[in-house]
Amino acid sequence: MPKTEEAEPEAASESAGVAAPVLEPADDMSPFEATTYLFHRSAARLELRDEMREVLGSTYRELAVQVPLRMDDGKVVVYRGYRIQHNGARGPYKGGIRYHESAELDEVRALAALMTWKNALIDVPFGGAKGGVQCEPGLLSAGERERLTRRFTGMISYIIGVNRDIPAPDMGTNAQTMAWMMDAYGHRYGYSPGIVTGKPVELGGSPGREEATGRGVVICAAESARATGIDFTGARVVVQGFGNVGYWTAVLAAEQGAKVIAVSDVGGGVFNTRGLDLADLDRHRNDAMSVSTYPNGDKVSNTEILELDCDILIPAAIHAVIHGDNADDIKAKLVVEAANAPTTPVADRILDERGVVVVPDILANAGGVTVSYLEWVQNIQQFRWELKDVNAELNKKMTRATEHVLSKAEDSRCSIRDSAFDIAVERVAHTADLRGYI
Ligand code: NAD
Repeated sequence: MPKTEEAEPEAASESAGVAAPVLEPADDMSPFEATTYLFHRSAARLELRDEMREVLGSTYRELAVQVPLRMDDGKVVVYRGYRIQHNGARGPYKGGIRYHESAELDEVRALAALMTWKNALIDVPFGGAKGGVQCEPGLLSAGERERLTRRFTGMISYIIGVNRDIPAPDMGTNAQTMAWMMDAYGHRYGYSPGIVTGKPVELGGSPGREEATGRGVVICAAESARATGIDFTGARVVVQGFGNVGYWTAVLAAEQGAKVIAVSDVGGGVFNTRGLDLADLDRHRNDAMSVSTYPNGDKVSNTEILELDCDILIPAAIHAVIHGDNADDIKAKLVVEAANAPTTPVADRILDERGVVVVPDILANAGGVTVSYLEWVQNIQQFRWELKDVNAELNKKMTRATEHVLSKAEDSRCSIRDSAFDIAVERVAHTADLRGYI
């Protein structure tokens, strides 16, 4: 287990996040309880020994910091920030930074654990981590976002590092945020492009990283559609969320011949059975700041969009949008989780009983961290790859992982989520054993 050599800030609080093993799903589970529930089910199937369950069912390190920010009007607002490292058996910790009002300790813990399983499943040599600042980034000016990012980076800089823990963008953050993080870290430790991934290409980012998560979602969705008997060409696709992941998923799915009939953002959505003109919709979104007012379609709410008649539903925004109260109303035959944890365990069970195929987050959205890995490799090699090579490697890794998960699900007669978790958990436990981790 990598340990920190530098002194850590006194303001930091450290404790291991532990959720008691729960083997029955409930809709009021916290995000970390829900993620840990999935792990413990897998641990039971794999017959992991108790001490391994205890280590993999809890987080390795949690850093909670206060982030005082001087606003443009001169007042100071104190935000709460986190960097949580779940497990590092397979390599340096890796996971995004989220700026969102819901990014509190428990949610960041859950996302860190999901990164451990995702990185193992897609087979990149990373452990799992996540970070977040609980704030509403849409209400901050560009200057405030930059100051917040620099302050937060300084505060977590003691536990991140090119070979220790490498952040990336997530909800509410983007390539610009990573540029500020890299610069702030570099002021303290010297030029270190490999400290973050998802940077602008001009600063050492990888070609193809921006669209990588969406590209991976589409590779996985097309492969899963084939296995489910859905013709991806002409399939009616609904995407909730039109940020980095949702936008690229929609655009690349349409490029592959699917018909994107509805999309939404936090302000609501738009629906057109004939298919949406995504380039025109994007222009409208840039002017109006939301897709919800797009005139060439009918308005839908973020609740209604999930229940539309479609072939493939792709939640690409926030967690727990499909739950016990609406799982029976989902009409899609295939749900592909582009967002992290969009389906609660209760909903997952209902969908499974109804024969709705769910492709889990740890597989579906792993394209982002795959290209983040390729970006990190390029930074270490100090050699820029071409886009075609990045996309070829992404395609190979996503296709291989999807085929493996689908065939194991078929052989074991289990859900795709159970199959994915079993592969991932077994890999992490195996590496932990090889290292003599416990
Ligand atoms: P983003 O900030 O670029 O976009 C988020 C989108 O969700 C926006 O359209 C926003 O309006 C919408 N949204 C926010 N709150 C909402 C709500 N309450 N209801 C409906 N829509 C809402 O974020 P992103 O990077 O596209 O991430 C989206 C999801 O994908 C997250 O769950 C994230 O963890 C996951 N993810 C992202 C990446 C990545 O590379 N960015 C990788 C893997 C997984």
